[in-house]
Amino acid sequence: MKLAVVGLDSADWTLLDQWLHHLPHIAAIRREGVSGPLESCRPPVTIPAWKCYATGKNPGKLGLYWFAHPNFEKRQLDLNLPGDMPGSLWELLPRSLVVNTPGTFPPRTIDGVMVSGFPCPDGEAFASPPWIVPRLQGYRVNTRVPPRHPDFPREAMELMKLQLETFERLAPRFRFGQVTVFHIDELHHLYGSDSIVLDAWRMIDEAIGRIMDLADNVVLVSDHGSGPMKEFVNVVPFLQGAGLLRLRRDWAKAPLRALQGLARVVPRRWRAGLRNRWILPRVADAIQMRVEPLHEWLPAASNQLRHRVDWMSPVMPLNQGLFFRNPAANGNGRALEDLRDCVSEIPGVARVWTRDEIYSGAHTGLAPDVWAEAVPGVELSARFGETWERRPPEKGAGWIVNHRQHGIFAFYGRDVDGHTVDAARIYDMCPTILSFFNVPPPPDIDGHVLPVRAERSEPPRQPPRQGGRPR
Ligand SMILES: [Zn+2]
Repeated sequence: MKLAVVGLDSADWTLLDQWLHHLPHIAAIRREGVSGPLESCRPPVTIPAWKCYATGKNPGKLGLYWFAHPNFEKRQLDLNLPGDMPGSLWELLPRSLVVNTPGTFPPRTIDGVMVSGFPCPDGEAFASPPWIVPRLQGYRVNTRVPPRHPDFPREAMELMKLQLETFERLAPRFRFGQVTVFHIDELHHLYGSDSIVLDAWRMIDEAIGRIMDLADNVVLVSDHGSGPMKEFVNVVPFLQGAGLLRLRRDWAKAPLRALQGLARVVPRRWRAGLRNRWILPRVADAIQMRVEPLHEWLPAASNQLRHRVDWMSPVMPLNQGLFFRNPAANGNGRALEDLRDCVSEIPGVARVWTRDEIYSGAHTGLAPDVWAEAVPGVELSARFGETWERRPPEKGAGWIVNHRQHGIFAFYGRDVDGHTVDAARIYDMCPTILSFFNVPPPPDIDGHVLPVRAERSEPPRQPPRQGGRPR
């Protein structure tokens, strides 16, 4: 294998650097390769971020801003399942192996093998092409228990190990490979820098060591960073206070149970009518594998949004600081200024961004009107029908770590030279990885090639050959 990428969901140098004496392979990469912080997309969340990484494009070109988006016409939340979206770097490289990268369900047909990652419903076809399926006996995408179950850490560890070993077993046949360690994100969220998390990193480090033996070059990358939390802030009461969001009477005491009930009653109709673009009962199962606030909130969200929210409200908030103006509201929603003013007054908001300030491309119309960047350590939540405004994290009762804007990157191996890279963005990873294969990046990407390759192996730049893939 010429180049292997190990995706490390939510990896952050502030934690890893403290533990380098326990992690000899990551330490070697840090010492001998080229590494640094990697600026993620806004907001820095898993589903858009891995897609921005793979395509080199900002969310405005992808139309992908979060795990889901509000559908004002249908009064529901639609789940984003962007596996079909074209343009990922593994589609530009012959003989690729991709294992467990978030946002790759449903599996797209590539020149190689695609094994989809989160969110991926249990019981669905998660790998292509068909010949690979019998070779994946025993493979799983999801943990068997949800986060916060006492068995979750052991279960997550086992699953990460299984996914890494599957990658290592298949890798020798391929030129490019990517395996993504996803559940480490859950462990960070719930256990911070606990010994459970260190044990997981030791296991991951050993796998990285084996991958260093089987690939000429190894790249480490995360979709965003992570760090200790100070507090949760619920944006809903603030929007209500400003008259930007109205709720209906809280009719459902247990919205999650209500949704599960709904799932048993109408699955066939949902399947036939909505296909897998929407929150389906079967998808809700996969989503429940996420931690708070997502696993508690997202499965219930479609139900909550339908029944709890007054759909003529001017604004719809989602978790992680996203605010959408309602095009169906009277007078086409309240002015952007009102929304900005309200959001900038919410405690823990560091900066209010409008969509035009952070996105560009054909799909910016789907973007949140406003994204509130929180102070590091503050988690902005949208909890409909809950009156609390601020509360501290509690270890053992949910997240104690949340996402950060800067994750990590590292390049190591035969074709890497010890340059320093001052500022790297997630969009730069795709063109830089393609450069190891002398494949020119697509013209409409937002990233640039980082100067990480050794001078001696710098090839002359050539235009792509007509009718064939460059090799
Ligand atoms: Zn992530």
